[in-house]
Amino acid sequence: MQAHNAALVLFSGGQDSATCLAWALERFERVETIGFDYGQRHAIEMTVRPQLLASMRAVKPAWGERLGEDHVVDLSLISQISDTALTSDVAIAMQDNGLPNTFVPGRNLLFMTVAATLAYRRGLDVLVGGMCETDFSGYPDCRDDTMKALQVALNLGMATRTRLETPLMWIDKAQTWELALALGGDTLVDLIRSGTHTCYLGERGELHDWGYGCGKCPACELRARGYREFAARRQG
Ligand code: ZN
Repeated sequence: MQAHNAALVLFSGGQDSATCLAWALERFERVETIGFDYGQRHAIEMTVRPQLLASMRAVKPAWGERLGEDHVVDLSLISQISDTALTSDVAIAMQDNGLPNTFVPGRNLLFMTVAATLAYRRGLDVLVGGMCETDFSGYPDCRDDTMKALQVALNLGMATRTRLETPLMWIDKAQTWELALALGGDTLVDLIRSGTHTCYLGERGELHDWGYGCGKCPACELRARGYREFAARRQG
């Protein structure tokens, strides 16, 4: 009973996934969202999600009609079986293998697989994720080849024809802001700026021009740099 033109968006409440959600709302007749609660240090992501979804519905009337159910899945087993700076209270640092200790091994593989299982039940034939190879932290499960291989594995294993779409794969953070502007104008840019959460430390005190966050962790630095490039290009 696979319905066509229906998507499930991996929606964390961050800048990237909010942009992916807007992208999906422009393209698909029915869009549902899935979020994972895995004991992440930035659990504030989970608290900004419902408000953000309500605001996304209001950006355009069509988006309000298309955006359906939100699913929150408990994946607390991740913090039981892995040890990373995203799920425990240790300093963010580079490891000997060249990956930051914020890397949760296999996280995106697990997320996509769980999403595919839910999509199967809900009759959704497209999975949308914010994986990006352009300015990523070297996470191997964000790579285009990883996602393409996973698409093949999932379709073989489930006898489906599900598509994995990653609209941010080849663009940088400044271009992600440009994409948001193209999709939803300044309304969406302002919503993403103030309504999404990216900071690894869960800091949400002060609203900077690029959004909330500590301004010092790798996620904040990347977000701030991208926003400034975007703002500079708009003026220039
Ligand atoms: Zn931060």
